[in-house]
Parts: sequence; structure tokens; C-alpha cells
Amino acid sequence: MAQDLRSYLELVKSKKPDDFQVVTKEINPAYEITALVVKLEQEAKRRPVLLFTNVTGSKLPVLTNLHASRSRIALAMNAAPQDLLRVYLDAMAKPIPPKVVSRAPVKEVIRKGDQVNLLDFPQIVHHERDAGPYVTAAISFTKDPEAETWNCAYNRLMIQGRDKTSIHVTPSKHVWEFYRNAEAKGEPLPIAFAVGVHPAIALGALAIGSIDEDERAIMGGILGEPLELVRCETSELLVPAHAEIVIEGEILPRVRTPEGPFGEFTGYSLGQRQREVVKVKAITHRADALFQDISVAHLDHLLLSTVPIEANIYRAVRAMVPTVNAVRVPAPFTCVVSIEQRTLGQGNNVILAVLGADLYMKRVIVVDHDVDIFNDREVNWAIATRCQPDRDITVVSHVRGSDLDPSAKEDGYTAKWGVDATAKPSLAEYTPRNRVPRDVYQRINLDDYCLSSRG
Ligand code: MN
Repeated sequence: MAQDLRSYLELVKSKKPDDFQVVTKEINPAYEITALVVKLEQEAKRRPVLLFTNVTGSKLPVLTNLHASRSRIALAMNAAPQDLLRVYLDAMAKPIPPKVVSRAPVKEVIRKGDQVNLLDFPQIVHHERDAGPYVTAAISFTKDPEAETWNCAYNRLMIQGRDKTSIHVTPSKHVWEFYRNAEAKGEPLPIAFAVGVHPAIALGALAIGSIDEDERAIMGGILGEPLELVRCETSELLVPAHAEIVIEGEILPRVRTPEGPFGEFTGYSLGQRQREVVKVKAITHRADALFQDISVAHLDHLLLSTVPIEANIYRAVRAMVPTVNAVRVPAPFTCVVSIEQRTLGQGNNVILAVLGADLYMKRVIVVDHDVDIFNDREVNWAIATRCQPDRDITVVSHVRGSDLDPSAKEDGYTAKWGVDATAKPSLAEYTPRNRVPRDVYQRINLDDYCLSSRG
């Protein structure tokens, strides 16, 4: 599979021409791009990939809303939309290690030292109250200074000058661990960011797993071939050879700067914090590079991240309860799991498995397999009619969760809960559901009663 963004855009144009829209009218990157994405979705019910070719204050075109459709994500995975989970699980189970290449379109232009200028990029401000322009599509590539462990992740970057950004590093996650190791020695942590990549690379970067799992190999698993990497100009790090743009730099030890507020996936504009600082040492890019933006907190962001979260949860639950049926993440910090419960207690096993497998998950709802978890009404029905709160709710206090949850007392220090809404002692022994007799349902004919159509 081609592993660059523009080959994927050609695929979208040929397979789904209505899904690709070029905007030539000048647009201001402060609020207008996000406003257009939101208005298009809310009022026109459309969510095409948008390419803005005339962006005020920058020569670079902006590409956004790339991931705002599950069928487009499926196209990137060479899968049918209903097979996303299976294909992602296959990539996690059969990762393909990356390979280093010498031919790298991302090196067509190389700017180092004084030539570095982040202010040449489109200065995209997404929501009111955001502290400034953010790069939201930056995928970090880092290595543990203490080990041969590599990591990829999305980290939001606030542009704070020609060669300076702040970075949001989630406490207790993998980049944070690497940075702790570097900072303990008083050293900077080399870091590089790819901006503008094939969605398979984006999906792999969002994989959730042990610190030892190499996201680059999961990217390869999705691509069906090794991810091609090239060495950075200013460090030993390796970055995708076919990216549009790479930002090379280092997170400085013992330096913090105010960052935020910033409107996040939680639906809130979250407050200012003291966060880590990136000193940018080089920028390399294609001669005609596209600047990718993720329309943060909207479908472009939410649909993309849901696929890897659901896959990881499915994998973790399956290790504990082999008869897991389906997994859905319908809202921040929330997941619903349906199982075919074989024996008493498996509902709570699901809760333990999910809370043990995903840092961000805070509420787990478990239902039987006769409940369609993609229908919120059915899930609510199961909670209402199969659950006794004094028996079926489990609360775990004083654990680490997302530092972006505004309800937590301290950033990321939270309680979590599970709701076992499975029928007890078993679905077979539970009060039967009402239904009209099956034979009557089958033989009754709407036409016989003049009811088959309105009119
Ligand atoms: Mn990782």
C-alpha cells in the first residue's frame, strides 16, 4: 500500500469524489477553518476532506477533516467499514517492523538553526478561549534514552515562537516516562513530529498497549508492509520518509511554560497549566508540502481515536472473557461492552479488564449479548431493568486517569466506575422479554390490513 498522504487523497478522489473538496477562497486560520468544518457538519450534514489552498498568512495549504468518516478510515485500512475492529486487531497481533530507507520526499526541503520558523506554518486557532495557534496533527517519534524502546503518540503543540512550542505530555504515559528518564540526568529528550501522514500511520500512533509495543510496527501491520523511516537531521531518531512535514527538536529538561487553555476532545476548554517546552532544531518537508490539521474535538478527531481504543479494549476483555461480543466507545472516558455471559461474575471481570487496559476509561457498562450497544436506548433499558445499583456498581477510588477530565479533583487523579447491567443470575434464567409470538409475527402481512405504506 502506498504510505503517503497524497496517494491516499488520490484514492479518496477516485473512490469517493464527493468526499474531497478544495477551497480556493481565502480563509483565516484563526477560527474560520474550524468554524467551516463545524458548520458543514451541523447544517449541511457533510464531512468531506477539506483542502484550503489560500490561507491567510501562510504559503502552505491546509488539509483538515481527513478522518471524519468511518468509511474513509476503512478505505485507508483497505477494509470494509464493519471490519475496522478486526483489521486493527490483526495489525496488533501481527505487527510488521519498520525499515530505514534513504529516499525520503520529506527531505526535499531542509531548514535548520536560524532558518527554522514555525510562524511560516498556518497559525490555526480552533476554538474561542484557546491560548493560541496549535499544531494538532503532530505525531511524536521518540526513543527511551535508557532502552531500545520506541514510541509514537499524538501530542498537541502550542506554537510559542519561531523555534519553540509547548507540548502536552500525558502524565504516566510513554513519552512522559522517556522524558522522566532524560530529565533525571539533566538531559533533553530528542523528539520529532510528523505532520501530514497516511491515516494508517495516524491509526497506529493511537494504538494503546504496553510501553514495549512498537506503534511503528502496528502502522506496518495496517499498511501490510514495513513503514519506511528516514534518519533525522539533528538526532538519531527515525521519522516517516513519506510525511509531508517533519519537525525535529528536543524537550528541554527542567523547563516549563504556560500552556492552554485549549478546547479538547472532552468538549471542554481546559485551563492553563505549566507544561514542557520543545526547542525546534530543524524542519524538513516536501517542496509542495500540505499542512495537516486535525479538527480537534470534532469527528475528524473523535472517529480516528475510537478505532484503536475499541480494539485495545476488545483485546483486553477477550483475554478475560472469551465470549465478548462487541465494544463501543460512545463518549469520552466511557465504554459499553456486550458479552455472552457463561457464568456468574463475568460482568465484573469485564469491568476489571477494561479499567486495567485503558488509562482514560472511567465508566464501563457491561450488558448481555441480546442488547445492541450501538443503540443508546437499548443500553439505557438494560441499565434500568437488569441492574441494582447497590449490588451492580463498582467504584474504584484514587486511580490515575486522564488529566483532561475537568471533574477530577487533581489533574488525572480520579475515581472510576463500572456498571454490571447483565441479567443475573443469567440471561436464560432472567424474566423473559416480551415479544409477540414468533409465528404470528411471521405470518401477519401488512398488506392484508392496508398498512404497508402511508397513503
Ligand atoms: Mn507507546
